[in-house]
Amino acid sequence: MLLIAKRKLSILFFSFLISIGFAQNHDEIIIQSHNDYKQKTPFWTAYTSGLNLIEADVFLKKGKLYVAHENGEIEKHKTLEALYLKPLLQVSSKDEDLHKDIILMIDVKTEAVSTLTKIQETLQNYPQIINHKHIKIVISGNRPNSDVYHTYPAYISFDYQEIEEPIAPENLEKVALVSTSFNQYSEWNGKGRLTHHDYEKVTNVIHKGKKLHKPFRFWGTPDSKTAWRIFTELGVDVINTDMPKRCAEYVHSLVHRTTKPLVVSKVYQPTFKNDGAQTQVKNVVLLIGDGNGLSQISSATLANKGVLTLTQLKKIGLIKTQSADDFTTDSAAAGTALATGQKTNNRAIGTDVNGDPLKNITELLHQKGFSTGCITTDEITGATPSSFYAHQKDRSQKEEIAEDLLTSDLDFFAGGGAKTFKKLEIKKQFSIVNHVDELTNSKAKRAGLFFSKGGVPSIITNRGNLLAETTKAGLQFLKQKEKPFFLMVEAAQIDSFGHSNNTEGIVNEGVDFDRAITEAIKFADENEGTLVIVTADHETSGFSVSSGDVQEHKIEGGFVSHDHTGTMVPIFAYGPQSDNFSGVYENNLVFKKIVEVLK
Ligand code: MG
Ligand code: ZN
Repeated sequence: MLLIAKRKLSILFFSFLISIGFAQNHDEIIIQSHNDYKQKTPFWTAYTSGLNLIEADVFLKKGKLYVAHENGEIEKHKTLEALYLKPLLQVSSKDEDLHKDIILMIDVKTEAVSTLTKIQETLQNYPQIINHKHIKIVISGNRPNSDVYHTYPAYISFDYQEIEEPIAPENLEKVALVSTSFNQYSEWNGKGRLTHHDYEKVTNVIHKGKKLHKPFRFWGTPDSKTAWRIFTELGVDVINTDMPKRCAEYVHSLVHRTTKPLVVSKVYQPTFKNDGAQTQVKNVVLLIGDGNGLSQISSATLANKGVLTLTQLKKIGLIKTQSADDFTTDSAAAGTALATGQKTNNRAIGTDVNGDPLKNITELLHQKGFSTGCITTDEITGATPSSFYAHQKDRSQKEEIAEDLLTSDLDFFAGGGAKTFKKLEIKKQFSIVNHVDELTNSKAKRAGLFFSKGGVPSIITNRGNLLAETTKAGLQFLKQKEKPFFLMVEAAQIDSFGHSNNTEGIVNEGVDFDRAITEAIKFADENEGTLVIVTADHETSGFSVSSGDVQEHKIEGGFVSHDHTGTMVPIFAYGPQSDNFSGVYENNLVFKKIVEVLK
């Protein structure tokens, strides 16, 4: 009878309670430094990593409060005061240092009431801590009966662990966290996923716990990236870890690293009519995804309902990207290898290891009566496109590279960076069109299109379908010259978003690249003798597709660096002689293979 009355009262009261600390997004996730005193630098590692909950096991021994895991491990200098109250006092004295809540969770290992009495006595000597609006003292482990929670002072609150039992409103008010043991519901090791059976049990207890409108915590959890992510997704408010720094980095970046695509690539089904045919190649379209490694391609594919036009292609190889002077290439050396067939030093544009100019493919093919062009979502003087027309020792020589464009053999270019040409008479050399539509029917001998004065907008800042449209128009422009042609198309910003570790950018630039690839494949199907090659200059950021959801088009990206990596990158080919591009080989052989199939 009493129990029922109590429960009804509780329910009535719950509706008036304001939920506090209820995790709404990943920024509000509370990360708990489990057994924090075991860290090399207790308190400070957790605090400087931005953790909000610091846990310490506390023993009362001969009138003193010690921090230790076992009674036998107690050390004289490891007291609650030395390890936690003194550092807390230090941070509490500088308000700007403590702008978010910090919870000191004291896990009482000795008799509840006497230990708590001693804790209160000790805390009385730290008015700055107990009166601080951002510091909470939460008692866990051996606690007094929940019926008396309300008799404790304002600065003490409790970790409530009897989630099956009712609690009176005045005592619930003293509850800071609702916790239960994870092992009771699952033996999951933190790898892969929970079994469907365990998932249901775990979900149910979280649901039950959250009915108390307090942050919900499991203890005894697996401690891994997968576990941190899954608990976050399940709505667990407190993530328990022995790796405070790594967990904070992972959890706090999870939202930023997880994305859904904003653009869609409408997949084109190639005819394969001439794919692999041993017939003459007339035109070559070389599409380069800057920084487009296998994981970048995977992320775009999985985000685009599991398919791209690119993933229809059947002839695939891998290329090694090392430069002449570095294991990890930059776009200049890689672009030069693709454009000239020679490996060179990083930063070199169309020059060899001695700084001497190398003949590039547009120069070579121009002599043989080909038309040539370059399209990029970078500035046209960027390292990748300029490797196909310029000769400079260093990629930063923008002015000189711009001058090289004027004297180059290119018949057509499109890209950003108009301002670099301000002082140059580019209009004497190229008919500059203002819009992609003007390009399609332009009868100009040489045409140029600037997308922007400086850098080109990214796909997530409204570039729209510019790359695919320009590829389509550029192919028409070159076609109506009625000569064989070579066109290089660069999706430049997959790389930029790799450098800034931005999953959303990588995925969307990758899907957008596929829209340009689609135009090239369609053109190849309509124009016999056109060979399409799709590759990358290198991989960027050690990107990985750690988790995701194909149905929801969701991708979680992971990163190992902010720079390029030495991993091999895929190369796809479609059209006559496409077989020549299968296998595993060095990047400079791509040039040689192109020259070979054009013979
Ligand atoms: Mg580039
Ligand atoms: Zn790069």
